[in-house]
Amino acid sequence: MEDWIFGIPTPVAMALIALIGYFLGKRNQRRVSVDQAFARRELKRAKSIAKQLEEISREVRRNLASHQSSIAHFKDRIALMSSDEKQGDESWQTLCEEAERMLSPTIRLSAQIANAYDEVRQQANLLMTFTESRTDPLTGLSNRRALDDSLESLFAMKDRYELTFSLCILDVDHFKKINDEFGHLEGDRVLQEVASLIDNCVRETDVVTRYGGEEFVVLMPSTDLEGANMFAERVRFAADEQLKVTVSGGVAQACASDEPKTLLARADAALYRAKGNGRNCIYSHTGECVLPYPLPNQEELDQQLETEAGLLEEVRSLERSLENRPQRVAEKSAEIEVETV
Ligand code: GH3
Ligand code: MG
Ligand code: MG
Repeated sequence: MEDWIFGIPTPVAMALIALIGYFLGKRNQRRVSVDQAFARRELKRAKSIAKQLEEISREVRRNLASHQSSIAHFKDRIALMSSDEKQGDESWQTLCEEAERMLSPTIRLSAQIANAYDEVRQQANLLMTFTESRTDPLTGLSNRRALDDSLESLFAMKDRYELTFSLCILDVDHFKKINDEFGHLEGDRVLQEVASLIDNCVRETDVVTRYGGEEFVVLMPSTDLEGANMFAERVRFAADEQLKVTVSGGVAQACASDEPKTLLARADAALYRAKGNGRNCIYSHTGECVLPYPLPNQEELDQQLETEAGLLEEVRSLERSLENRPQRVAEKSAEIEVETV
């Protein structure tokens, strides 16, 4: 072994660098949904590779001392042979055998390092495929498949440890208009901006996914309905302020009778209500009913009741005028008949 980095043979150093790179890469995967079984298997493999590399480097260090003394001895022998012209073939033969003996552990170590390095590369490829199949290419967020996995894990955690969690669907308002007015590319850019805005509003443990065209789902572990409502309102406000784009949100907290489908359906029902009530607002499904967030205060409720009472009165007067209509039509035709006669 001729090349050394920081006192370590180059191949070992490179393998260690690859391993460190692998772990750093893994740490940066924080937005990737975690398939528990895959992650466990992967961690086990990474640990065994690290152990393998550790043993190799220990063996290198152990062999180094004897290697150095062998080389010193070897050098002395060559010097001696060069000065003694009487040295015969036999001595050269011994010298070659000695050189071979010295090289064999080095060759063995190189093979081991190459194998370990290959495993690290395979591991990285596997991780990349896993990540790609769960990532939305436009926004870099997790996709629906990753959301399904995360939901499954969160429901399992909820059932086993009674850990609560909430879900929020955020939908860009009148997004079709943006595409129609400014083109699809601009639409794509807006989606990327909304995605990164949501991503910047969440906690590390939350999972942000692009659920569909202009719909995003956020999973919030250990978060109750109030917390999730606050989060959704924060995103709505930020989108309006910073991007001049409005979003509507539907929120729900997982309850005992929920499964992934029903939880999504409840949040979707809340979103539907937000759309129906003017957009750019947040509604949540409490398990029993759908309420706006924040809840209106007494004054707003009174005002709403007044408006509703006014609308009701208008409808009633229309109904009355429609009720009288056949009679008025009959009177009018009688008048026309008299005139004609
Ligand atoms: P609402 O306020 O009711 O949500 O109205 P909307 O126009 O946002 O919703 P609608 O479902 O009518 O339209 C969604 C549009 O999103 C239609 C579709 O062409 C567009 N869309 C879906 N995926 C993409 C995408 O990846 N890029 C772009 N630019 N547009 C997309
Ligand atoms: Mg929309
Ligand atoms: Mg939509």
